[in-house]
Amino acid sequence: VASLVDADKFFFFKQVLNNINLDIYNGEILGLIGPSGSGKTTCIRCLLGMEELTEGQSYIFEQKMPHRKTMNKIGYMGQETALYESLTAHENMTFFGKLKKLKGEELTHEIDKNLELVDLSGARNKIVSQFSGGMKRRLSLAITLLGQPDIIVLDEPTVGIDPKLRRSIWEQLRNLRDSDKALVITTHVMAEAEQCDKIALLVSGEIHDYGTPKDLMNKYEAASIEEVFLNLE
Ligand code: ATP
Repeated sequence: VASLVDADKFFFFKQVLNNINLDIYNGEILGLIGPSGSGKTTCIRCLLGMEELTEGQSYIFEQKMPHRKTMNKIGYMGQETALYESLTAHENMTFFGKLKKLKGEELTHEIDKNLELVDLSGARNKIVSQFSGGMKRRLSLAITLLGQPDIIVLDEPTVGIDPKLRRSIWEQLRNLRDSDKALVITTHVMAEAEQCDKIALLVSGEIHDYGTPKDLMNKYEAASIEEVFLNLE
């Protein structure tokens, strides 16, 4: 459903992405992992057309990105949260839901469902400035999922979220995958990477390796993805 083709990205003279070819399929969670600064966020932003590629192309649903018509099919959550701090969780959801053209019962249903999913139903009328960091990330995730996007791209979605909630969020991500959505997730948590269907291992702006977690563990004769990662040169 989405792909980067021969993608290069320079920031001034610094090359950040080097000949990236990456395919994203529905019904799959793709984990984008790699050392800090290896280009994961840039890769995502280029894929979504938020950043212009120096060379190559990004396609989503066969359209060159950025493309107006594909925008409402994408749910993107960046590393920074963009919430209205002086509004309640519910007011934030309503605002962003309306931006996505949801209204009436559908909007109410989606807000309730997604707040429940991130375990924030009880905090719906709380002002966001009083939220903890993890609560803000969870609210951002709930907003990202409004409108049932076909492609869900999450840049470190579980930072600041406790293990129990992290587990339940992953359960929900798998449910989305099983309902045939395409998910792309960056993470520094290798136990999360192991739960992905495919892993793209990014090193210095290049796809160092790609495959199922099992493939990579076999290839590197490692007992875990963490071991694969720690043994990178
Ligand atoms: P992290 O895991 O720390 O979030 P990352 O793998 O997501 O890192 P990127 O944020 O994509 O890495 O950054 C890749 C490289 O590109 C870094 O060296 C960064 O300094 C550089 N970079 C990113 N954005 C810009 C920009 N707007 N201008 C100049 N350099 C940038």
